Amino acid sequence: MGWVYAFTETKGLGKELLGGKGFALAEMTRLGFPVPPGFTLTTEACRAYLERGAFPEGLWEEVREQVERLEAATGKRFGGGEGLPLLVSVRSGAPVSMPGMMDTILNLGLTRAGVAALAEASGNPRFAWDSYRRLVQMYGEVVLGLAAEGFERLLDRAKVLAGAERDVDLSAADLERLVAAYQEHIGAQGRTFPDDPWRQLEGAVRAVFESWNNPRARTYRRLYEIPDDLGTAVNVQAMVFGNLGDDSGTGVGFSRNPATGERGLYGEYLKNAQGEDVVAGVRTPQPLERLRESEPELYEAIADVAARLEAHFRDMQDFEFTVERGRLYLLQTRTGKRTPEAAVRIAVEMAEEGAVSREEALLRVDANTLPGLLRARIDPDRAPDPVAEGLPASPGAAVGHAVLDAETAESWAGRGLPVVLVRPETTPEDISGMYIARGILTARGGMTSHAAVVARGMGVPAVVGVAALSLNLEERSFRLGDRSFKEGDVISLDGATGRVFAGEVALSEGGSGAYLQRLLAWAEPHRKLGVRANADTPADARRARELGAEGIGLVRTEHMFFDPERIPWVRALILAETEKEEREALDRLFAFQRADFLGLLEAMDGLPVTVRLLDPPLHEFLPPLVELERKEAAGALAPGETKLLAQVRQLHEVNPMLGFRGVRLLLVRPEILRMQVEALLSATRVLREQGRDPRPELMIPLVSTAEEVEQALAVVREVFAEFDLSLPVGTMIETPRAALVAGAIAPLVDFFSFGTNDLTQLTFGISRDDAGHFLPRYLDDRTFPTDPTERLDAEAVGRLLEIAVREGRAANPGLKLGLCGEHGGEAQSVHLAHALGLDYVSASPFRVLTARLAAAQATLQLTEPQDRSSAG
Ligand code: PEP
Ligand code: MG
Repeated sequence: MGWVYAFTETKGLGKELLGGKGFALAEMTRLGFPVPPGFTLTTEACRAYLERGAFPEGLWEEVREQVERLEAATGKRFGGGEGLPLLVSVRSGAPVSMPGMMDTILNLGLTRAGVAALAEASGNPRFAWDSYRRLVQMYGEVVLGLAAEGFERLLDRAKVLAGAERDVDLSAADLERLVAAYQEHIGAQGRTFPDDPWRQLEGAVRAVFESWNNPRARTYRRLYEIPDDLGTAVNVQAMVFGNLGDDSGTGVGFSRNPATGERGLYGEYLKNAQGEDVVAGVRTPQPLERLRESEPELYEAIADVAARLEAHFRDMQDFEFTVERGRLYLLQTRTGKRTPEAAVRIAVEMAEEGAVSREEALLRVDANTLPGLLRARIDPDRAPDPVAEGLPASPGAAVGHAVLDAETAESWAGRGLPVVLVRPETTPEDISGMYIARGILTARGGMTSHAAVVARGMGVPAVVGVAALSLNLEERSFRLGDRSFKEGDVISLDGATGRVFAGEVALSEGGSGAYLQRLLAWAEPHRKLGVRANADTPADARRARELGAEGIGLVRTEHMFFDPERIPWVRALILAETEKEEREALDRLFAFQRADFLGLLEAMDGLPVTVRLLDPPLHEFLPPLVELERKEAAGALAPGETKLLAQVRQLHEVNPMLGFRGVRLLLVRPEILRMQVEALLSATRVLREQGRDPRPELMIPLVSTAEEVEQALAVVREVFAEFDLSLPVGTMIETPRAALVAGAIAPLVDFFSFGTNDLTQLTFGISRDDAGHFLPRYLDDRTFPTDPTERLDAEAVGRLLEIAVREGRAANPGLKLGLCGEHGGEAQSVHLAHALGLDYVSASPFRVLTARLAAAQATLQLTEPQDRSSAG
């Protein structure tokens, strides 16, 4: 096996060795597309180089041989001589596309002597000098590692001196002087630009190999979960010139619109220019569409190439081309990146055109992007640089005036102003403000923190855990990194990417409904997992049902009390000191609860509704101790608050997530449990009498022993007996202990529902609310490959699930199994749920779409390819 292959001799080699670009160039060459000749240094050569810090033995002999073949094929000489010199481009090309992340050098091989020869042979000295100055600049930046600004500054100065407005207005003499200035600049930094083509080539190959490890490539790989050890191939290709005059040019084409997915050629073209002018956005190209009139033949040729490329590669292609004196050349093609909206439309239309099967279309869409499709979005191409970034907690984009507390949010929103609620973290006091806000921004919290869970449930875009956010509530101001803002300043956020922007950023409306519906309809027959929703209000339940939920997998009854009118009663219940106080609170809550259950069961008529008994980590319901203490210190406690402070102090828990919640609270305060079961049974009875088909199930939270389940069940059964009505009863499995003793718990219940939020928190020992302090760094350097609060950790949490599934089913073969942590709406985690053989997952309403598609994808991916080839 060699290190280097010509485009014409790569038969049988794959992308892992040739890289995506090298593979595509070889394919296009084989198919007879007009591709300038060239060769590829393999990713294996890159890996060998990076390993030993030196070129592997034999590599340069092979390169020399290939360059000689290029000379023979083009009739030009590398380094120049008679006629046109052979110039080459040197480009990176990893096995997985990483657009713009690594380096490219054009016009390589040009020397001083070569410039003269090029000027003479092309009859265009300006072109020759322009090519040379580009090479010196790119080489200076990419190989010698000098900052781009230094060169840009010299270029700007040259334009000023020449009185030129655009780059193309510089004459040959201007450019010659510019090259001299560049070289002086390079020399001043102790470097030299080699006048020897072989040394240029060596430096360029070395730089491209090393660019695999540059910071932006590393970041990109982290974001897209690309392994770090693939390495990049290097493609060396004979140059064709788009800057020979007005009959030349360069452009980028897409076989379909990458933003909308619309059919047909789309792209940009720049006359008399070289490739990087377009890519780098230095000059503004014109839409390809314009060529249709000005140069119809060229337009037709490009459209024809686009259609043929797409037909061959069976997906939307993004290709670069150059026109040299009227002749079209293809420089590369790849599967085009696209917006989530375009991905859906392209997959659906290509299946309908018969280009791919429906099954393949289903696998082409990233299920995690679907919730964002229904919400307003920020167009990444038009967005400015973000001022800060946090965790993408709830998709959708928001623009509004920053408000620093819920009260202000309500009063400003009441005046018709759009607001974004900015808080250190969210507490129950904030709920009313969260409902009304266009978006939510918090400094603390992780993907399953209160703010994230509630925002997703409400469908409000949210970015949480923004470490760069600090608030000054006294001065009504806040900082995002080094920028300061006052309350009332307009900010924008993108809950799908976690980005935060200063000022107003243009939003595009969510849409793509029809294509998405078609795609999801195709998914249905493949899905083995049931999909339910986590919903706490009738409105959420209805929305979830519209989006395809087959029931509710989790009603968090404590969320039903977040309403500002109700919170005081939950507080009263928690803090009750006398039986009378307790009774009054219970009666109030019973009435709220019964009404809510009626609404939920009605909205989900005929479908299961899993009602979880109260599980309030107390900090989510009590006013924060620090705030009361601050008030006390300032002598500003209201009359009733002195007693409140004492009670809050008494109930204060260092870690409420590990505290008095879930089944513990229910066993210590069985009257709460009774009240809830009574409310549910009473609502069920009413609906049955009306001839409806309510299907409630009861669920016990946060257990860790069979004994706890037995005790809770004893109370539940008493109420069932009183009502002469019984319902299926299950338990959450959300502590590691419960998972490990699942075999003892299973015979007691009808179902398990895995609470993977708590199970993750407890398995890792990471607080759901505080992960923001270290998680960004952990994700950044890949201490954690992914955020375990977002994507289920297969290795350990998955293992606990596997044990609980196996031992639970063995002890109770009729046991139903669900998953209702936030992971139920994340595609990879849904795959894991499928592989574990669960019966259903439950996700927040918008993420029902993700779960439905991901469940179908899981089936398709786990099936042998021959079983899923039936064309749609
Ligand atoms: C869980 O822990 O996964 C769960 C669904 O419950 P909560 O998020 O309400 O604690
Ligand atoms: Mg839980």
